[in-house]
Amino acid sequence: MTYDYLVIGAGSAGLQLCLRMLEDPYFLEKKIGLLEKDIDSAPDKTWCYWEIGHGRWDHLIDHQWSQGFFAGGGEEIVLDLSPYQYKKLNAGKFFRFARKKIEESGKIDWIADEVVDVQFQDTVKIHGQNSNYQSYHVFDSRIDPDFYENQSCKKIWQHFKGWEIRTKEPSFDPNKFTMMDFRIKYNNSTTFTYVLPTSSTTALVEFTFFTPFMIDDHTYDLYLKKYIDNILKIREYTIDREEKGIIPMTDYPFYKNHQEKVTKIGTAGGWVRPSSGYSFRNSQRFVTKLIKNLKNNLPPHHGIGHNRFRTYDTIFLDLLEKHNEMGEELFTSMYTKNKIQQIFRFLDEESSFLQDIYFISTFEKWPFLKAAARSFS
Ligand SMILES: Cc1cc2nc3c(=O)[nH]c(=O)nc-3n(C[C@H](O)[C@H](O)[C@H](O)COP(=O)(O)OP(=O)(O)OC[C@H]3O[C@@H](n4cnc5c(N)ncnc54)[C@H](O)[C@@H]3O)c2cc1C
Repeated sequence: MTYDYLVIGAGSAGLQLCLRMLEDPYFLEKKIGLLEKDIDSAPDKTWCYWEIGHGRWDHLIDHQWSQGFFAGGGEEIVLDLSPYQYKKLNAGKFFRFARKKIEESGKIDWIADEVVDVQFQDTVKIHGQNSNYQSYHVFDSRIDPDFYENQSCKKIWQHFKGWEIRTKEPSFDPNKFTMMDFRIKYNNSTTFTYVLPTSSTTALVEFTFFTPFMIDDHTYDLYLKKYIDNILKIREYTIDREEKGIIPMTDYPFYKNHQEKVTKIGTAGGWVRPSSGYSFRNSQRFVTKLIKNLKNNLPPHHGIGHNRFRTYDTIFLDLLEKHNEMGEELFTSMYTKNKIQQIFRFLDEESSFLQDIYFISTFEKWPFLKAAARSFS
């Protein structure tokens, strides 16, 4: 059998794409398959994103906040997010919801297999561990191995460990999350703590690195403990759950890995915003665009990922790569000199060129100009 569309990977991008296809009459007569290697282990991680008002996944979210907090450069500020809400979703819950929807619909084949090779002739031939498949078009969320080998792009790793803690006494304000707190740092690098309180006695506390280097597991534990002891000043708590992650922040040209009949999606398609590591919201936006392109007979990736924003991100990554010690100063400028709504618009690639100029002018000029010169010389 030949599929019209085969999606490789039931992750953030693949699932959002399949759920959209299920709802859209354009795909009613199409034969669609979804290939996933880890079909029985729903991912246990937290996805956060911001949006204005009611959203598509509100029935799945665990918590949302209308206020944030930032601490850095000796300053502490409360971020009033209105009209935005910052929302927390469990990836496993999302996976189970999507799987049920897909299976109940009977319209998309949910296939448990690991893809080992994809070859392109008149159709795309997909070789799996268990079987082989054919499709007229493939949406592929596997990261190209060239990304790891490539030495010429900028790569910063956003790596972190989080503890979901439970306290005896009320210790958190569940209406306010901490976006970045630089008061506890690993040496002089770009490291901070992120706190997502879900009640007065429960919170996910994550110690995060934006660095070109990695560290051992023990170091995360040490810094999490320091933050909980010294900043949150919590004496008694239990750890209910742990989560760890590594997200690439890079200007690697993922778009070069698209082929006529193979469209890369998710991280593999460059859907992670390089300067922030967020991708869940991008997946939502880019899936909409991708489907519009399909209907208009355009290459599915057409217009996805704006060059102007990639240019800013390259400069930002260059600064973090060459001067990792400047991270706190950079983010302090960002959060103290700009409204959070403007930051969200910038990260969503919705700000105008003039707004971007203002945004960039709030940073120390010389390091930025030097990074720009290095990046584009
Ligand atoms: C702990 C953690 C917390 C995070 N928090 C946030 C957050 O708050 N907000 C946010 O926006 N982003 C967050 N991220 C990043 C986000 O998870 C990723 O950017 C996003 O999942 C990328 O989507 P994706 O579809 O490309 O990849 P994934 O979601 O990783 O999905 C890829 C899928 O492809 C499957 N697969 C891979 N290779 C094959 C193969 N050969 N054959 C078949 N299947 C295959 C994998 O099993 C996987 O299910 C977090 C990441 C982690 C790890």
